[in-house]
Amino acid sequence: MKALTWHGKRDVRVDTVPDPSIQEATDAIVRITTTAICGSDLHLYEVLGPFIKEGDILGHEPMGIVEEVGPGISHIKAGDRVVIPFNISCGSCWMCDRHLFAHCETTQVREQGMGAAFFGYTELYGEVPGGQAEFLRVPQAHFGPIKVPEGPPDEHFVYLSDVLPTSWQAVEYAGIPEGGSVAVYGLGPIGQMSSRIARHRGARVLAVDLVGERLDMARRHGIEVLDALEHDDVPGVIRELTEGRGTDSVIDAVGMEAHGSPVGKAAHTLAGLLPDAAAQKLMKTAGADRLAVLNLCFDSVRRGGTISISGVYGGTADPINMLKLFDKGVQIKMGQAHVKRWIDDIMPLLSGDGDGDPLGVGDLATHKMPLEQAPHGYEIFQKKQDGAIKVLLQP
Ligand SMILES: [Zn+2]
Ligand SMILES: [Zn+2]
Repeated sequence: MKALTWHGKRDVRVDTVPDPSIQEATDAIVRITTTAICGSDLHLYEVLGPFIKEGDILGHEPMGIVEEVGPGISHIKAGDRVVIPFNISCGSCWMCDRHLFAHCETTQVREQGMGAAFFGYTELYGEVPGGQAEFLRVPQAHFGPIKVPEGPPDEHFVYLSDVLPTSWQAVEYAGIPEGGSVAVYGLGPIGQMSSRIARHRGARVLAVDLVGERLDMARRHGIEVLDALEHDDVPGVIRELTEGRGTDSVIDAVGMEAHGSPVGKAAHTLAGLLPDAAAQKLMKTAGADRLAVLNLCFDSVRRGGTISISGVYGGTADPINMLKLFDKGVQIKMGQAHVKRWIDDIMPLLSGDGDGDPLGVGDLATHKMPLEQAPHGYEIFQKKQDGAIKVLLQP
């Protein structure tokens, strides 16, 4: 089959690799029809090289048609249309019983001290072959795959793999009070969907970014936006707009892709120059991203408010302004999305029940291309060229 594989920094290729096959009774093989490139794939493309091997297949946002299931699977069968959550979870361990699927104790990557395995994401997350391929072997498929109805196009459902549950969880974790307000930093796919979900649920949303197309997209969906290039003091503007207090909640949807982080840039560049063992240590310990955005979040939230962090954080050495957080009495909640925990909440908004398409899922992907063009997709997404906000691949 064809698959998108990693070969080095900013070097991904479409290679011919062996077809996957059933290895365990709870495996399924899915023929992929749509699979997205995620902002966190860019971390592999750009900075997580030390944790990845040449030839590893990337991708963790796939959907498709079940080809074959192992004997331990009964909730799906060949021919079913399914979305595959990025978490690989068993559904029945101590963590899964508490709906903490991103920490599944059956698939936890203990040797790396990490949570549940996920697809296409380096040895930190189990080195499981990913879904930017014609076929995907899905472990723990007695639990993971989400059956979706026939009819609507793939882009209606593909975001159930990551973008929508991550955004939904970001809004849940933000704890926005009834009729309250939320500032959303970053208008990539997660920021876009978090904004739409929060608005759909009745919050006032103030979203911040500095890329024109992203601001335009949010505006199209009725979101109040602030262009960070036009304001020296974004938190000050947010306070002005909220009776001097700041928003009840803030969602940090920027992650490691932030612009203008001198610290992050140095750590990333340095990591690229070191032998893998040393670089791994640096990536795990250095604050490998922009603290600037997190500080803006601290500044923007009202006293007694809540910050929800959904952007991926990679380092452990970031100096955090504890004085400000303590004095303002801020709560912080964060972490990988527990994908399946939120599916029953989101599905009615996608499947045409209720008021049609309230989240406007048809307006997120800016590019759709065949798998063969995936290297181009990575390049324009990474360079934010050609208005790229979300890229879908169609194997
Ligand atoms: Zn993703
Ligand atoms: Zn589990």
